[in-house]
Amino acid sequence: QEQDSRKTALVFGGSRGIGAAAVQRLLADGYAVAFTYVSSPDKAQAIVNAAEQEGLQALAIQADSADPAAIRHAVTTTTERFGLLSVVVVNAGILRLGTIDTVELDVLDQMLNVNVRGVYLSIQATVPYLVDGARVITIGSNVAIRTGFAGSSVYQTTKSAVAGMVKGIALDLAPRRITVNNVQPGPIDTDMNSDHLDMLADLSPLKRVGTAQEVAGLISYLASDASRYMTGASLTIDGGGTL
Ligand code: NDP
Repeated sequence: QEQDSRKTALVFGGSRGIGAAAVQRLLADGYAVAFTYVSSPDKAQAIVNAAEQEGLQALAIQADSADPAAIRHAVTTTTERFGLLSVVVVNAGILRLGTIDTVELDVLDQMLNVNVRGVYLSIQATVPYLVDGARVITIGSNVAIRTGFAGSSVYQTTKSAVAGMVKGIALDLAPRRITVNNVQPGPIDTDMNSDHLDMLADLSPLKRVGTAQEVAGLISYLASDASRYMTGASLTIDGGGTL
């Protein structure tokens, strides 16, 4: 079931921030791109409209990564429209902070459901629809290496789990030459940390936060044929923040 040219991408969580930049970059790279969103229908539609104005193929699907049925629906909707998947980017993620003495059970469950279970189920749902030689790319975080702040234990737990799961899944899918890699950004200028950008820039060796486009550049490389010998890797892109 190999396609001649790898050409369809699905981005989980593509309406804002790093995911939106990944959608736009993959569109520019020549993919038909479907992406999911939850609470930003207007932003999702704007991305589709802008793509269509340029003659590019984009599709927005409302699907909460905490909901296994919604994940499966997103995958089948994408493949019915665009065919088998060459690239999957699992970007959807949430950040809730709190020290261990304050974290409520529903916060813990929500973070695990989106950032860990949702990542696993998203990849699992795509497996029957991946072309041989496809690319699976997760978005973890450099907090899997070093956090530096109290209050991030749950987030760190989830992103460490992603760095671990890509290794196991990479071995599972290696017989089909499907590669599975994890991008670990440091502080990036998105809504997720818009309240702390100055402080984060100050702490960075490069004295700035990163842009979503810079992360999308690494995603583009991992999606490309050039990355084909890399699998199970976690690649940190954080301005030297964990050095
Ligand atoms: P944003 O909060 O700016 O955007 C999150 C995106 O994910 C939105 O498109 C949102 O859709 C979508 N999303 C959120 N929850 C769900 C869900 N349950 N199901 C489906 N989609 C969902 O985040 P960033 O762009 O900053 O972060 C993207 C990823 O990068 C996350 O995994 C994050 O942990 C990781 N990361 C971010 C860093 C940063 O500094 N920004 C640093 C390291 C890692 P909608 O708006 O429609 O709800």
